[in-house]
Amino acid sequence: MATAISVSPAPAAAAVARPPTLVCVPATARAPREMAAELAAAAALGADVAELRLDRLAGFAPRRDLPVILADPRPLPALVTYRPKWEGGEYEGDDEPRFEALMLAMELGAEYVDIELKVADKFIGLLSGKKPDNCKLIVSSHNFENTPSTEELANLVAQIQATGADIVKIVTTATEIVDVARMFQILVQCQEKQVPIIGLVMNDRGLISRILCPKYGGYLTFGSLEKGRESAPAQPTAADLINLYNIRQIGPDTKVFGIIGKPVGHSKSPILHNEAFRSVGFNAVYVPFLVDDLAKFLNTYSSPDFVGFSCTIPHKEAAVRCCDEVDPIARDIGAVNTMVRRPDGKLVGYNTDYVGAISAIEDGIRASQPTDPTTSPLAGRLFVVIGAGGAGKALAYGAKEKGARVVIANRTFARAQELANLIGGPALTLADLENYHPEEGMILANTTAIGMHPNVNETPLSKQALTSYAVVFDAVYTPKETRLLREAAECGAIVVSGLEMFIRQAMGQFEHFTGTPAPDRLMRDIVLAKT
Ligand code: NAP
Repeated sequence: MATAISVSPAPAAAAVARPPTLVCVPATARAPREMAAELAAAAALGADVAELRLDRLAGFAPRRDLPVILADPRPLPALVTYRPKWEGGEYEGDDEPRFEALMLAMELGAEYVDIELKVADKFIGLLSGKKPDNCKLIVSSHNFENTPSTEELANLVAQIQATGADIVKIVTTATEIVDVARMFQILVQCQEKQVPIIGLVMNDRGLISRILCPKYGGYLTFGSLEKGRESAPAQPTAADLINLYNIRQIGPDTKVFGIIGKPVGHSKSPILHNEAFRSVGFNAVYVPFLVDDLAKFLNTYSSPDFVGFSCTIPHKEAAVRCCDEVDPIARDIGAVNTMVRRPDGKLVGYNTDYVGAISAIEDGIRASQPTDPTTSPLAGRLFVVIGAGGAGKALAYGAKEKGARVVIANRTFARAQELANLIGGPALTLADLENYHPEEGMILANTTAIGMHPNVNETPLSKQALTSYAVVFDAVYTPKETRLLREAAECGAIVVSGLEMFIRQAMGQFEHFTGTPAPDRLMRDIVLAKT
C-alpha cells in the first residue's frame, strides 16, 4: 500500500537561517600520504570537507600516520571516521584502540569525528568532556537493509541526540525510491527543531537523497573523488554534485524535475536540462528517478515542489493512466513522455516525441522546397512508417494529425495491421516495402532500431527502394548519419536526422517545464557534444 507523503521543505524563514549543505569527499586511500593527497584533490574539486576513512588504511599506526594525514595547514576541514566491520567499515579490532585513534585525531585538530551510535555512550564517557571546542561529534547510525518508518527514524534521531551528538547522522537503504521521502521528512523535522542532521539513503534508488538534501536542510552530502572511488553504493561524484546538479544553488524553493525510468542511469537528460535551466536562471534541478511503480512514486512525491517529469521506458504507457489530463494525441499514441504539475496540483501529460519528430520533418521539407506556410508540408502526402512500436505510433499519429495518408510497415505484420487499423491506413510487410511505389513524393520514417550503433552497416530498406522517396527520416540518432540517411541523400531525398527529433523533444519538455522558450543553441550544442 503506497504511503502518500507530500514532502515539502521547512518554511522559508527557518531555511534562510540555516547553513548551506556541505559537500564531503570520502578519502579512501590505503596509504597515509595518498590519503593526504586525496584531501588536496577534494579541495581542488571544490568540496567543503573530506572524510578520512581510517579503516581503509593498510597497517594504520595512529601516532605515526595521523600527523601525516592531518598535517597543518590542511587543504580542507577533516571528518575522521574509523568504521568497524559491524557498521559497514573495514576495522576488525577492539574498540579501545579505535577510540584512542579518534581522540588523537581530535587533539590534532580534526574538525569532525564520527562515532557509531552503538558505542557512542562509551566513547563520550571516555572523552569525559575533553572534546576540543572546534571539533564536532557526529553520532551515526547505518541501516544496510531498508529505511524504517518516519516514526522509527524520528525515534532514532531522538536517541542520537540524547548521546550529546553535535550532528545526527542517519544512513539507510532504499529498496524503492519512495523510501527517500521518509528521510526528507526527517530532515525537515530536524530543520524545524534546528537539529543538524546528515540524512542519506544508499543505493541507486536512494540517489535523490544525496542530490536534494540541500532542499530539505541536510547538513552534508557525500560525493566521491571520481567514479569507482565511492564509499557507499550509488554515491555520485563530487564533481557531478557541484557541476551537473548545481548543488550549491539548491535551496528550499528549488523546483524538482527529473527523468522517470528503469533503468535511468544512462540518460543524458540531466546534463541537458540542468544546463538549460542554469542558462536561463531557472531555480530548478533535474535528477534521475529510478522508479519501479509509477503510481506509487507520483502519489508519494505529490508536493508542488515536484513539478515536472520526463518519462522513459518502461513507464510511458503507465504515465497516460497516471495523469489527470492528457494531450489528445498523446492519448491516441498511448504514451506520455512529459508530465507537468499545474498550480492546481493536477498532472498533465504530453508527448513531445511526436511533436519533435513531425516538426523536424516539416522544417526539413520547408528548408529544401518552397511550401505553403499556411498548411503542413505533410498534408495529403503518402507517409510510410517502418515500425509499430512507441516511436512508430508517435510518428503515425503525428503525421495523420497533419493530414498525411499513413502506411505502416512492420516486421511483425500483425502489429503493423493493428496500428494501421487504429489510424485508418494500409499495412505492409517489410518485403512488400521493397517494391512499394504507388506514387511520387512519398515520405519514409524509420522507427525501428535498425542501423543503430553498433550495427551501423544495417539499413531497413535497400538503396534501390529508397529512390521512390522524396523525404526520409530516421528515428535512430546514434550515429547521427545512419546508412539509411546516407543512401537516401545519395538518391536525392531530403533527409532528416533522429538527432533533430531528440533535440526537439527535449526542447518541448523544457518549454512545458518552464513556460519559456528553450535555449535552442545551447541545447543543440550539448546534445551534439554528448552524442
Ligand atoms: P519499440 O517500441 O521497442 O519498437 C521497436 C520497433 O522496431 C518494432 O516495430 C519492432 O518490430 C521493430 N524492430 C526492432 N528490431 C527490428 C529488426 N531487427 N528488424 C525489423 N524490425 C525491428 O522501440 P521504440 O521505443 O519505438 O524505439 C525504436 C527506435 O526509435 C529506437 O532506435 C529508438 O532509439 C528510436 N527513438 C528515437 C527517438 C529520438 O528522439 N530520435 C525517440 C524515441 C525512439 P516488431 O514489432 O516486429 O518487434
